[in-house]
Amino acid sequence: MRGTFFLGADREKKFEVREMQFGELGPHEVLVECRSCGICGTDVHIYHGEEGSAAVSPPVVLGHEFAGVVAGIGAEVTDVKVGDHVALDPNMYCGLCTPCRMGKKQNCERLFALGVNVNGGFAEYALCPDTQCFRVSEDMDFDVAAMVEPLACALHGIDRAQIQPGQTVVVIGGGTIGLLMVQLARLSGASMIILSEPIEMRRRIGLELHADAAVDPLHEDLPARVREITGRNGADVVIECVGKPFAASQAIEAAGSGATVLLFSVPAVDSTIPLPLFDVYKKELTILGSIINPDTHQRAVNLLNSGQLEIRKLITHVYDLEHLDEAIHMQMSSESIKVVVHPQE
Ligand SMILES: [Zn+2]
Ligand SMILES: [Zn+2]
Repeated sequence: MRGTFFLGADREKKFEVREMQFGELGPHEVLVECRSCGICGTDVHIYHGEEGSAAVSPPVVLGHEFAGVVAGIGAEVTDVKVGDHVALDPNMYCGLCTPCRMGKKQNCERLFALGVNVNGGFAEYALCPDTQCFRVSEDMDFDVAAMVEPLACALHGIDRAQIQPGQTVVVIGGGTIGLLMVQLARLSGASMIILSEPIEMRRRIGLELHADAAVDPLHEDLPARVREITGRNGADVVIECVGKPFAASQAIEAAGSGATVLLFSVPAVDSTIPLPLFDVYKKELTILGSIINPDTHQRAVNLLNSGQLEIRKLITHVYDLEHLDEAIHMQMSSESIKVVVHPQE
């Protein structure tokens, strides 16, 4: 049983495939045979030595967006059985800190997560608490099932943004999350969705996923285009999915009167923007953050089971365990949307 261990961002060789041993399963442990594990922007941050949702403690197997088949269960596991197909919720909360006890588990001070500070999905097998396993339909493709986690994150963001039927939504960034947001905005009843994305291939897919317009922000003035398309001073909801300061600034500029701006992406720790205070006042803007996915996993599974989202189009590249470094570079490249690793190949 092999796994690709992350050795630390300061190492020249950042990954190493090692043998893994699994002893007897604890009463609530589940051994999952990993079939597909997506590479997330958070993995890219970790690769560069930046912080994700929680601090990383190498050597550790990264990969928190994964799905597979139950290969073994502990004595007290009742909700899944060997052979079930499952997607994992990687995030575990202490239940004891003040945020946990104030109903904000996503801000848990002792968050621990599969694929961040506990071994995750870039391995042939992963040891997972039964609470983190969500059964998915048997005919769901494992690459699609591995998208439960990012979809659950996007759902938390969509819940925060509170899109109302008939509203105009701008999505900035056409990567995996942006293209999920386009689809969730449509399901939420948005009457007009504008995608801003510099890469032609991603704009085309955005339009295939039913964005009404796709703007190239490098060659067009996004806020001006939004005003032109909407016939107003901006959109009702703007969702930023890039993680760079310029995108956050554009999001605020593209917001119309009464708008909500959701800064969804994970920025670098020291990122800042100048905030146009008068616009915030005059337009009465609501600016929101969003972190991880408290209690949205089951809804993500239900949505994927229902077939209402197009996921296959987002998965552009597949790698094996030996080529994780290359896979991470491909995830950073403009050629890709979602890169996944197949640990069994
Ligand atoms: Zn992720
Ligand atoms: Zn806590």
